[in-house]
Amino acid sequence: MFDSIKKRFGAEGEYPASTIGKADISREKSAELFAKAKTYFPGGVNSPVRAFKSVYGTPLFIEKGDGCHLWDADGNQFIDFCCSWGPLILGHNHAKVREKVIEVMQNGMSFGAPTALENELAELILKNNKYIEKIRFVSSGTEAVMSAIRLARGYTKRDKILKFEGCYHGHSDSLLVKAGSGLVTFGETSSAGVPKAFADETIVVALNDKKAIEKAFEEFKDQIAAVIIEPIPANNGLLLQEKEYLQFLREICTKNGTLLLFDEVISGFRIGFEGAAAYYSIKPDILTYGKIIGGGLPVGCYGASAEIMGHVSPDGGVYQGGTLSGNPVAMAAGIAQLTELLRSGFYRDLDKKTEEFAAAIQRFATARNYKFKVFSIGSIFWFAFTDQEAIRRADEIDSASMELFKKLHRELLNRGVYLGPSGYEVGFISSAHTKIDLEKAKRAIFESLEVVFNGK
Ligand SMILES: *Cc1c(COP(=O)(O)O)cnc(C)c1O
Repeated sequence: MFDSIKKRFGAEGEYPASTIGKADISREKSAELFAKAKTYFPGGVNSPVRAFKSVYGTPLFIEKGDGCHLWDADGNQFIDFCCSWGPLILGHNHAKVREKVIEVMQNGMSFGAPTALENELAELILKNNKYIEKIRFVSSGTEAVMSAIRLARGYTKRDKILKFEGCYHGHSDSLLVKAGSGLVTFGETSSAGVPKAFADETIVVALNDKKAIEKAFEEFKDQIAAVIIEPIPANNGLLLQEKEYLQFLREICTKNGTLLLFDEVISGFRIGFEGAAAYYSIKPDILTYGKIIGGGLPVGCYGASAEIMGHVSPDGGVYQGGTLSGNPVAMAAGIAQLTELLRSGFYRDLDKKTEEFAAAIQRFATARNYKFKVFSIGSIFWFAFTDQEAIRRADEIDSASMELFKKLHRELLNRGVYLGPSGYEVGFISSAHTKIDLEKAKRAIFESLEVVFNGK
């Protein structure tokens, strides 16, 4: 990951005594499970942010999810805004997804040979996405991006890639790189174990800075294979970019024979079915998807024109494969979920709900002069303790404000609302969040903000 890796996972949060106005929920069973988990897994988890290092207390061990609700091992119930970090756009345990998965599972779980289900999911996607002509299924977002980068390098016969500080693209070596100091920098590795030689092939610049991009293309003329960006950066706060800036990236890439890679692992199928590419009406050269595409099971994919995809093996020389790629059960979940998304009005309703939710919270905070902003797009929102009207770059986020998020997170858990355990994470609203759920959540958020800002 990038800079905020330390901030996110930072020092173990101590757990000061009771909160004002509301007792702490019991985490006894979760604490027991976590103690045990620590003997099995580094930090007790299989993905670092789950360890609750940036918020108070023990991570909650989840027993069950249904609709927009989660239940933990101690029997606490929450309205969930993490939604498994994005995939669950229909909420937990959606009947259509569950039933399709069970139906397909009856016939076996993996064959390592082609199935009609892969065709079915591919057709669903390609028929409804004008930006790609062929795709390749993989098993995670990380794998999708890693493969897409290899394809860009193989296609252009260039080695360097350019990424942005504040965008996350999974944990492959070339992308665990953060900015050094200076306008255009070779990256520094953001994880131990990444060879410096890899970081030297990754150029890192700030978002929303045209000069830095121009300078990078001057300095590394004819060397940059791809510019990779989350067109809607949503892994380090929600750093909404201006369309004009994304358009500028499109143009400078075209001019330099560099491929523009939109990493839409979060924004794909979230900001409309065709993601940010359609939202901004900009055609990238390669696209990556993940999260929602698998309906809660492990699926990712990358896609491009038939011409570019023709370079992937066995048609072309760029190798990429996977034992469980296109797994039938995972395909089934994807087919069921994406079919629901294609229903007319799906995104309109979801986005409207989110907009009203975000606006109501903003009104509440503004009326009380709280230094607090709700940024949102589609069905993604982000709570920021700031008075800036826009935050477009990673270094515009005030890291000290994360102390306030920590308090907010605890107060919300105590009031039955579950947010991702870091102030750098965005929230997601699913179609399972009803008006009543959102009303309840709003009330909890209002109360929690009052505690955070007034200590009452
Ligand atoms: C989540 C995410 C990834 C990584 O996907 P995994 O499935 O966690 O490997 C890559 N890029 C973006 C934009 C993401 O949000």
